[in-house]
Amino acid sequence: PIRVRFAPSPTGPLHIGGVRTALFNYLFAKKNGGTFFLRIEDTDQSRFVPGAEQYIMEALEWLGIAPDETIGKNEKFGPYRQSERKELYKQYADQLINSGWAYYAFDTPDSLDAYRKAEEEQGKTFIYNHTNREKLDTSLVISADETAQRIANGEHYVIRFKTPVDEILHLKDIIRGHVKFETSLLDDKVLFKSDGMPTYHLANIVDDHLMETTHVIRGEEWLPSMPLHVLLYHAFGWPAPEFAHLPLILKPVGNGKLSKRDGDKLGFPVFPLEWKTEEGISSGYRENGFFPETVVNFLALLGWNDGTDKELFSLEELVEAFDLNRVHKAGAKFDPEKNKWFNHQYLINKNDAELAEAFAPIVKEKGFTTSIETITKIVSLIKERAHFVTEFWDLSDFFFVAPTAYDEKAKKNWKPETPALMQELISVLEEITDFTSVNIESIVKDWMTKNEIGMGKIMQPFRLSLVGALKGPHLFDIVELIGKQETISRIQKAIA
Ligand code: GLU
Repeated sequence: PIRVRFAPSPTGPLHIGGVRTALFNYLFAKKNGGTFFLRIEDTDQSRFVPGAEQYIMEALEWLGIAPDETIGKNEKFGPYRQSERKELYKQYADQLINSGWAYYAFDTPDSLDAYRKAEEEQGKTFIYNHTNREKLDTSLVISADETAQRIANGEHYVIRFKTPVDEILHLKDIIRGHVKFETSLLDDKVLFKSDGMPTYHLANIVDDHLMETTHVIRGEEWLPSMPLHVLLYHAFGWPAPEFAHLPLILKPVGNGKLSKRDGDKLGFPVFPLEWKTEEGISSGYRENGFFPETVVNFLALLGWNDGTDKELFSLEELVEAFDLNRVHKAGAKFDPEKNKWFNHQYLINKNDAELAEAFAPIVKEKGFTTSIETITKIVSLIKERAHFVTEFWDLSDFFFVAPTAYDEKAKKNWKPETPALMQELISVLEEITDFTSVNIESIVKDWMTKNEIGMGKIMQPFRLSLVGALKGPHLFDIVELIGKQETISRIQKAIA
C-alpha cells in the first residue's frame, strides 16, 4: 500500500511552497488509495519555533488536506514527532559505525576552517570526506581504541557518513527521470551529534523506513540530498522509497525562488494563515479572504496540469486527475493576480446565502442590523464585481448609508436643468405602487420616452444621487432594495 508523508521542520510558519508539497502528497495518496501522514521533524532544537507545529496542522485542516495519521491521530507508527523518537536513532548510528558506513569525527570548527583554507589556497573547494581530510591531516586517522577513549573523556564528536569515493550514482526520480551524481563531490554529512540528537538525514531515513514510506515527494531543494539518502538506505540494507522532487516555485517577476520579500513587495501573502510574532504580523491567505478551495486549486497548478487547459478543479477533481508523472521539471511562476482570479471564480460560484453568511458579520460590525434576506439580495447584486468577501462592504456601502459626498467629475456634468428633471423624477417615483426593479424601470423609461428626455440626462444624476459615484450594480435594483422613501430622500438631498 502506498504511504507518503509530509515532514516539515517546525521552524516557523509553513511557506506556500511547503503547502504545495503537502498537497501533492495528499493528492498522490488519495488518488492511489494510500495513506498520507504528517511527521514533525524537530530534531534541530536550535531552530525550533513554538507554535509552528500547531500552525502546520491548522493550515492543513483549513485547506481540507489533513493527514490520515499524525500526532494524536491514528498513531499506528508513532510517535510522529521526532523529538519523541530520540532514543531510537542512536542504535542506527551505531549500526553504521559497526558496518563501516560511518565514523566518529572530532574536528573542531577551527580545524574545519583550516581544511577549507588549505584547499582554497590551491584553488579548490573543500569537500569534507574521509579521504580528503585524512590527506590534509594524518593525525585524523585514529584507532578504535583512541576513539573510544576520547568519547569516554567527554569530547564532542559527530558521527559522519562514510560516502563511497569515486562512484557514479545513477538514480531515478519520478519527475526528473534519470539523475546522475558523483560521490566524490559529496560531503560526508553528519548523522549524529554528541548531544544525543540525530541530524535530519539520519532521522529522516530511519523514520521513512520504520513508517513504511513508499514515496518521498518533496521540494527540489532536497534533490542534492537524494544521493546520500539512497546511499543510507543501501548502507542499512533497506529498500529505498521512490523519489519525486517537485519543481521550484518562482517569483512573479524576475528570476529565482519565490520568497517572503516578493510577497511584501507586491502585496500578497506567502503563508496560508496569518503568523504573528513580536516583530509583527505576516498575513495569510485565509485572513486575506481567500477560500481554502482557491488556495488548493492554484497550488495544484504550480507545476502540474491535467493535460488539457482546464483550470478550475475541486479537491475531488484534483484527486481524480492527479498524476505524479505529469508534474513538470521546470519551475512554476507564482502569479498573485491569477490567484485573485481563482478566488473570484470560487466566489461567484458560491450560493448567495453562503456569501451572505460570510458578509453578515462585517455588516454588523459596521453598525447595521440588516436582515439576512436583504444582505443576500445585496450580495447577489455585487458579487460579480468582487474577488473577495472582504471587498463586499466597499462595493455595497451605499445600500446601507446615503452618500455623504458626490464624485466631483460626475457632479460637474450636471446640467442647469438637472434639479428640475430630478424633481419630476421624484413625482414619477411617488406614483409607483408596485415598487420592484422591473416595474420601476419600465415606468421611468416610459416617462422619459414620452417626454423625450435623453437617457443620460436622468440616469447619471439619478445614480449619482443614490450611490455618490457612477458605479454599482443595475440602478433599478438599487432603487428597489433601498425602497421608495430612501430613493426620494437621496435625490432630494442631492439637488438641495
Ligand atoms: N524536514 C524536511 C523539511 O523541512 C523534510 C524534507 C523531506 O521531505 O525529506 O522539509
